[in-house]
Amino acid sequence: MRLLRPLRPLQLLRPPSIPTQKHTGRLTHSSRPKPEGKQLVRYGSKWKQKTEPRTDRRSPLMQALDVGKEEEPVNHDHRTLSTQFELFTTHESSPGSPLFHPNGALIFQRLQSFLRAQYPAFGFREVVTPTIYKDSLWKQSGHWDNYQDDMFSVSSRRKRPPAAVREGVDVTLGTTQPTQGPAFTISKALGGEPTPSAPEPSACNHNDDVDSGDYGLKPMNCPGHCLLFKSRKLSYRELPVRYADFSPLHRNEISGSLSGLTRVRRFHQDDGHIFCRPSQVGQEIGKQLDFVDMVYNVFGMRVHKLVLSTRPLDGNFIGKAEDWDRAEEQLRTVLQNSGHEWELNKGDGAFYGPKIDVILLGNDARQHQTATIQLDFQLPQRFGLEYEAPAPEQERLGLESQDPAQLEQKGMVTPVMIHRAILGSFERFMALLIEHYNGRWPFWLSPRQVIVLAVGDNPTVLKHVSTLQDDLRMPHETGRLPRRMDAPRFQVDIDLRSESLAKKVASAKRRKYSIICVYGEKDLKGNSMVVDLSGIPNQLAIWNIMEKIKPGSQAPVKKNVPTEMNRNIPGARLEQPQLIRLMETLTGRYL
Ligand SMILES: [Zn+2]
Repeated sequence: MRLLRPLRPLQLLRPPSIPTQKHTGRLTHSSRPKPEGKQLVRYGSKWKQKTEPRTDRRSPLMQALDVGKEEEPVNHDHRTLSTQFELFTTHESSPGSPLFHPNGALIFQRLQSFLRAQYPAFGFREVVTPTIYKDSLWKQSGHWDNYQDDMFSVSSRRKRPPAAVREGVDVTLGTTQPTQGPAFTISKALGGEPTPSAPEPSACNHNDDVDSGDYGLKPMNCPGHCLLFKSRKLSYRELPVRYADFSPLHRNEISGSLSGLTRVRRFHQDDGHIFCRPSQVGQEIGKQLDFVDMVYNVFGMRVHKLVLSTRPLDGNFIGKAEDWDRAEEQLRTVLQNSGHEWELNKGDGAFYGPKIDVILLGNDARQHQTATIQLDFQLPQRFGLEYEAPAPEQERLGLESQDPAQLEQKGMVTPVMIHRAILGSFERFMALLIEHYNGRWPFWLSPRQVIVLAVGDNPTVLKHVSTLQDDLRMPHETGRLPRRMDAPRFQVDIDLRSESLAKKVASAKRRKYSIICVYGEKDLKGNSMVVDLSGIPNQLAIWNIMEKIKPGSQAPVKKNVPTEMNRNIPGARLEQPQLIRLMETLTGRYL
């Protein structure tokens, strides 16, 4: 089996922290001539500071690399930070179900889009499945016996229809005439509109079986995915089948345990299920570990270790011990080839299959357990899932027969099911990220990407700033509708208040905008403006991108990296197309 080489973790640098000294109330805006007549512009708040002799003789670039050392503490509670960034709120009307503000929804959706963009590379196809299923399904899946107390039940408030409807008599016409068609949909029958005689598809017709019974709100997607698999007749050639699902899930957590985004009753997973041949287990697990590596590199985390939990020692497990042994052997091989440290948690697997837990290490040195890869021998049996394969006896054992006589035989074989989640719960992962970034969001995830501050009250300037907002929010806009689905879009705010620039800058800094643009009367003549990039965590990446954006541009180059980044907020005079390219590059590289 070929495993992709783990990617090198991204270096996440933090920008200079904002000085804590007293503010003088003055804002600087300076430019310094360069030999080629171009300007490196810096602006920023002026801070009272002690004059300290400069002792660091290293190159400015090396000093810029070190700015992360002065980062702010990362132990902020995600609930406090979420209030500051207007990410989500809760209400007693729905305990444990976060209501996401547009800023929180934006992060949520970007995480989703990020995963959606990766799915084709890992063979997943997204599916859309119901929120409620009848109790009969939960009985079949085993949730009824093992998970009932953690589920919400759902029942219809609609009274059972009168016997006349059940007998096929049209009540909407106010008559008791027998209907022309075989039956009427319950929705139409109770909806008040005259019902034509043509029958609806049978699935919508009134039927005692359809209307009887209560429902459960789904706590997991697995049974629904089993129904999808079962609905098609599959050959071994079509496996693995990989379904991904972002459905909301509900679990009835005890009210006293509910907290922020970490203990919730409604949540979403980047849930995925793989149905594969027994011989494919190893390669599928290997792919998922590659997926985990790739995803967490983007977030500046790395896989610390993997933990394999094996067959329960008390004999409480389903399936044959030989099946477990074979599957565990495949998992061991994958773990050994993964390049990661791994350990054995003997006997700690669930009764339905062994699992691999992924322990991550954040750049704050804290360990997190989010991703899980779980084998399941039970659900495919409970749902009677099968696929057709030649040499079925060998197929069941994970062997591929070469014997023509055996290959002539065709038979049905039960697939192995793999449950896997990379981020786990979106809500919980967002809580982790909120604390991990502590307000210094990478640009692509930032809920406050860009703000344009208008200098003064000149109506032309104010109007131009509004236009600028649209230009930056939807770059390359042709004015044609509908827009392309992959058209870039950014979160751009403007500040047109009649306040001093110092106050506007201070406010934008406090709200942690990634990019702050300043636009005044002087800028009306050209197509450029002063841009502060200090809110973007990876300052080194910015310098590298800026150098490439336009050779000979006014962008700062390495030798001009500010020597005292804590004191002078680095800025640059950028033309609008340069700024847009910078924003697009940062987004494209997940920086
Ligand atoms: Zn599952």
